[in-house]
Amino acid sequence: MTATAFLRPEFVESFPPELEPRVLYVSIPYATCGHLCVCGCGHEIVTPLSPAQWTLTYNGRDVSLSPSIGNWGLPCRSHYWIREGAVRWCRRFTAREIADNRERDRRDLQEHHADTAPGPIARLYRRLGL
Ligand SMILES: [Zn+2]
Repeated sequence: MTATAFLRPEFVESFPPELEPRVLYVSIPYATCGHLCVCGCGHEIVTPLSPAQWTLTYNGRDVSLSPSIGNWGLPCRSHYWIREGAVRWCRRFTAREIADNRERDRRDLQEHHADTAPGPIARLYRRLGL
């Protein structure tokens, strides 16, 4: 298990069956990014792009994702930002903060329901076994 310090973007239509470490896959057709957890645990992390979820910024070479990525559901509970490809680690949240975050995410999703495209994302989730 080695931690990843930098992710390079790879623009794809759909994700490969096995994600490579140190690559941030960007699927514009599915409005979704995917990468392997940067702690090295090997879990696939899927970040749907939408106004209520993640925002992708591409500067022509590197990508940033906002907000931070909190893998609360994984044993590693990694929490980090991807800023111009570089991994910036954050402190781990407490159980209380995780619960608050989840509640806020759920509300945001409901509010933006009309903006999201559940069809392709749901298909992608199924393909990734999530
Ligand atoms: Zn991890």
